[in-house]
Amino acid sequence: MPGHLSMEEVFARACELIPGGVSSPVRAFGSVGGTPVFLASAKGPHVVDITGREYVDLVCSWGPALLGHAHPEVVQAVQDAATRGLSFGAPTTAEVELAAAVKARIPFVEKVRFVSTGTEATMTAIRLARGATGRPRIVKFAGCYHGHSDSLLAAAGSGVATAGLPGSSGVTDGAASDTIVLPYNDPDALRAAFAADGERIACVITEACPANMGLVPPASGFNETIREVTREHGALMIFDEVLTGFRVGPAGYWGHDNSPDAPRYVPDIVTFGKVLGGGMPLAALAARAEIMDLLAPLGPVYQAGTLSGNPLATAAGIATLRLADASVYARVDEASEVLQTAIGEALTGASVPHVVQRAGNLFSVFFGEDAAARGVRNYAEAQAQDVFRFAPFFHAMLDAGVTLPPSVFEAWFLSSAHDDAALSRILDALPAAARAAASA
Ligand code: PMP
Repeated sequence: MPGHLSMEEVFARACELIPGGVSSPVRAFGSVGGTPVFLASAKGPHVVDITGREYVDLVCSWGPALLGHAHPEVVQAVQDAATRGLSFGAPTTAEVELAAAVKARIPFVEKVRFVSTGTEATMTAIRLARGATGRPRIVKFAGCYHGHSDSLLAAAGSGVATAGLPGSSGVTDGAASDTIVLPYNDPDALRAAFAADGERIACVITEACPANMGLVPPASGFNETIREVTREHGALMIFDEVLTGFRVGPAGYWGHDNSPDAPRYVPDIVTFGKVLGGGMPLAALAARAEIMDLLAPLGPVYQAGTLSGNPLATAAGIATLRLADASVYARVDEASEVLQTAIGEALTGASVPHVVQRAGNLFSVFFGEDAAARGVRNYAEAQAQDVFRFAPFFHAMLDAGVTLPPSVFEAWFLSSAHDDAALSRILDALPAAARAAASA
């Protein structure tokens, strides 16, 4: 396209050719209004749009950019891999190396299968749980997002929450009817579902720490309850760490919440994506060998992919996990604390009722008196917040050169490249954004 077009002209052209002008719905700015920012490049904590304007980025590609955008050693690893060939459709040593790196961080993992997206990872995990148990039904929690496979779209978070949809058109009753949707953080509802139908439930899938209805940490003991109830009834526990894995800490949310030597709970199957691929399309499911060996070619549960374990993606993943050492997590945690405190101060200073909810370095902001008074524990409470305060807040930040996730139902993402200069630009922008939220 000609380089002199404005953002509005580019978006209009995109909308002629691509539904909504985007390849993933939340990018269209549907809930915040205005023209989506088309990006041209990204480096460290910054993204640059097609007009050359630079922003401090708090989207980080929705999680993968833990080390900041285009980390030189990750880019070099991808370039080196590219010179050797883009895709073989044959096994590579890089897959073996990356599987070993995953296993080294998560002690309960014995085997790993690589796929290209988080959607595939959770979809395959569900199929595996059904194959392992011979049971049809699955339990998911309202507001949790596990990608866009049919059976997992019911009452989903992320873009489905942003659009205010109950699920998706195009999903048959057959595909949806085996999905039981329960309120998050409600042990009684979980026990009641198993009491009613336990023999037909293959698994409970849960986000390790939900971050797709905003950040809603599990209440103390909730993940343990999922573990106990599934074990009692012979069902599997699927822990979706696509978003949290290798981001909240070296061993994901599980490692953040458990001592690896004496864990309080161990899920049966875990899913990864995002940071695992360091910005390339890569995701995985992992479990103990007895479960993983049910996958083809060893077992009867089928899964495959032309680009699965792609050499560029595995090269980016290996480099990212190698670089993501204790100092990286310490920096992201520290930057996140500074930002969480500053957001709270700015909103309080502008008399905007709110709560900042967090799990380690992941956090999000909820607006409203109720949220401020008692916190947000589930999807119904997340939906009941003062959603209208977010759009003016978002646009004030954008005007000041800070890109936030364009929905109040998403977590904010930092990287180890968010240095003091990047943080100050965000902090400087917050008071005016808080005032904009106050006057909404
Ligand atoms: N699970 C979780 C917890 C996620 O946050 C996401 C994506 N945001 C997915 C699954 C789906 O991953 P993908 O977008 O790579 O299909």
